[in-house]
Amino acid sequence: MVAPALAPGLLTLARWRLLAMHREAGVGHVGGNLSALDAMMLLHHEMLTGRDRFVLSKGHAAGALYVTLWSRGLITEAELATFHADGTRLPGHPPARGLPGSRFGTGSLGHGLPLAGGLALAARLQGRDGRVFCLTSDGEWQEGSTLEALVFCAHRRLANLTILIDHNRLQGFGTTAEVASLDPIGRVLSGFDVEVREADGHDLADMRRVLTPGTGRPVVVVLHTVKGHGVPAIEGRLDSHYLPLTEEQVREAMLGSAMLGGATGETA
Ligand SMILES: [Mg+2]
Repeated sequence: MVAPALAPGLLTLARWRLLAMHREAGVGHVGGNLSALDAMMLLHHEMLTGRDRFVLSKGHAAGALYVTLWSRGLITEAELATFHADGTRLPGHPPARGLPGSRFGTGSLGHGLPLAGGLALAARLQGRDGRVFCLTSDGEWQEGSTLEALVFCAHRRLANLTILIDHNRLQGFGTTAEVASLDPIGRVLSGFDVEVREADGHDLADMRRVLTPGTGRPVVVVLHTVKGHGVPAIEGRLDSHYLPLTEEQVREAMLGSAMLGGATGETA
């Protein structure tokens, strides 16, 4: 069965819910959630089947994952209100158990790709169909474990593995270029035996174009994104990595989006 296309209006709704959830919980990490939200929504609404696996390596984008699952009817509205609370099933980084599709607790950066590579190899050894998708940040490519995992995945020619890089060019303490540059990351990683593709991470059609299965090698998709996408006050700003939004910023983001017809930045 072909999944219905993800409507741009649903992206806007998810963005609003994400902003409200973070505001209600009083927590940050909003920028890196907003840069990854569109890709996560596209994967979960159009691409992932029961045979596929998704690993959120950049675990600090847990809010975007929870809102995406909420938009699929897999998490209730009441449960979203428990985000970050004591005893919640929705902590600041994804838990290893208890969430639909969740297998690993992630967020200690550099661990997601080694785990995803293991899932992809296990599936092949067991003769199982399905793809493995791993969403990484760009900063975590400075982690040796991520690069080691890429060597492993390329060596094993894990064509059932698709690695997405949320390339928002910022990390916790500066731009990726300032901290430890791998620019241009697409060209650098193409030196490995993988198939590198690039797309606008806020353009659904462009992402659909590059998220097709690989042919004999792992696929690495560099998604060019904007930290804080959809909230002009924080777009491209370093402080959006950690700092929570003010109530005024949330209100402005929602009003600005509504005045533009709910289609800020994304195309179908
Ligand atoms: Mg980043």
